Amino acid sequence: MRVEQLGEGEPEYAVVGALHGDEPCGAHAVEHFLRERPSLERPVKFVVANEPALERNVRYTDVDLNRVFPGDPDADEYERRLAHELLRELRGCTTLSIHSTQSYDRPFAIVDDADPLTEAICPYLSIDAVVEAGGFTEGRLVEYANVIEVEAGRQGSEEAKAYAVRLVREFLGAIGALPAGERRSADIPVFRLERLIPKTPATTYDVRVANFERVSPGATFATADDDELVAREPFYPVLMSPYGYEKEFGYAAELTGTLG
Ligand SMILES: [Zn+2]
Repeated sequence: MRVEQLGEGEPEYAVVGALHGDEPCGAHAVEHFLRERPSLERPVKFVVANEPALERNVRYTDVDLNRVFPGDPDADEYERRLAHELLRELRGCTTLSIHSTQSYDRPFAIVDDADPLTEAICPYLSIDAVVEAGGFTEGRLVEYANVIEVEAGRQGSEEAKAYAVRLVREFLGAIGALPAGERRSADIPVFRLERLIPKTPATTYDVRVANFERVSPGATFATADDDELVAREPFYPVLMSPYGYEKEFGYAAELTGTLG
């Protein structure tokens, strides 16, 4: 794990990339700022979390880091030890953690609950939506630290790298480390994850609907080989993609309101 600091004093803020090694945009953004070394009004920690996985371009080496928090310093698996170490680094810090996804091209945020922290920071970020993870935070960093996760765009894309740099700059503005950018005037929709959408065993999968857009009852939202999956109730798909997760397409969410 690489941990560096910009600005003077004891950091109360952190930026983390590469919880997942096959999502290089976060580490790219962290390295961008460590190279640029902007003078910050507040001290901020910059962290590249899973360096061995990043080097090999794999999600993890032993276990998924973002499913094993709070971790264990004595575990055999590398990521369980790393989870413990990372939580220690982030203690007392409000953190931006950068991911990317196979489900969506543009940035959105994932939080535990839309709390005052979300209200204070998210309106400064170039995001299409805020997702409340609600009951789906087990083992994830958002459950154990003061974290706003951002999905910076399509996994492995140049756009995701550019978005990640922009999101970090906006975060640094929102916390007063850099001159603040503009607070968005438009409302940001807030979605709450309600349930997983499981995959039935098949060889080919397809998703027929767009994330964050309402699916009506009776609509075919996905296929598994020749089987069509039809919505019984209306829902909003979130993090839904044919192959992003092994056992699920993604999540069904509810639109709960707006921020801003
Ligand atoms: Zn990720």
